[in-house]
Amino acid sequence: MTSLLERVKTKIEGKGIVMAVDGPSGSGKSSITKAAALALGLEQLDTGATYRAFTALCHRHGLVGEGITPDEEQITALASTFEFQIDTDPKGNRVYLGAEDISELIRTPLITSLVSQVARIQPVRNYLIAQQRQVVQRAQESGTGIILEGRDATTVIVPDAPVRVLLTASEEARAARRDAQEGAGSGSKLASRDAQDRKVNNFETPADGVVLIDSSDLTFDETLEAFYQVIDEALA
Ligand code: C5P
Repeated sequence: MTSLLERVKTKIEGKGIVMAVDGPSGSGKSSITKAAALALGLEQLDTGATYRAFTALCHRHGLVGEGITPDEEQITALASTFEFQIDTDPKGNRVYLGAEDISELIRTPLITSLVSQVARIQPVRNYLIAQQRQVVQRAQESGTGIILEGRDATTVIVPDAPVRVLLTASEEARAARRDAQEGAGSGSKLASRDAQDRKVNNFETPADGVVLIDSSDLTFDETLEAFYQVIDEALA
């Protein structure tokens, strides 16, 4: 693994390489992209966090919540004024709303349960995607490079990225990992969120040129190694 990692590092150094990783929730993409970004010295953008941050703002404005039917026009109007503030250093990855650090808030079950309602509104997506692309462009131009992860990174945000991966795992494996991370029962909520998100993007079968990594039977280190192998081959 060390020589593979060193080879990959040499290939990407200073080139502002862009990598995209998509997958369903619980597929391990956040931890894999974070570990890879740290090891490779890349920036990292969790695009899910951008949707979560905007959902937290919508909730503050009373536009989403229990018993509230989301008004797409009002939410879109709010999106047009929203600029996400996310630290792309994989060591921190803090998320802010103004001066407030909302990194923990956006992971609460409340925001998790509301985010799909907001993310399915296409004009909201357009505003966020434009900002996500600006982050990518800065990381490209600075020569640092970036890994983005989400549901539409490989297909919509950066379909021309030289490294594109779809990271999947069986529903059972994903639910078991979530239960282990967040407590029993959290895994079962994944399926309903995925069902909502699937209506917006296909993140279960790889688009043309996207490499599939199925991590169901792989350990964390094996999955990371598979990712480095994909990078190594893509940049041959
Ligand atoms: O990845 P994460 O589970 O944090 O994403 C939260 C939600 O944000 C997803 O359930 C989905 O509704 C939305 N999302 C999206 N497109 C992305 C990333 C996330 O619609 N690229």
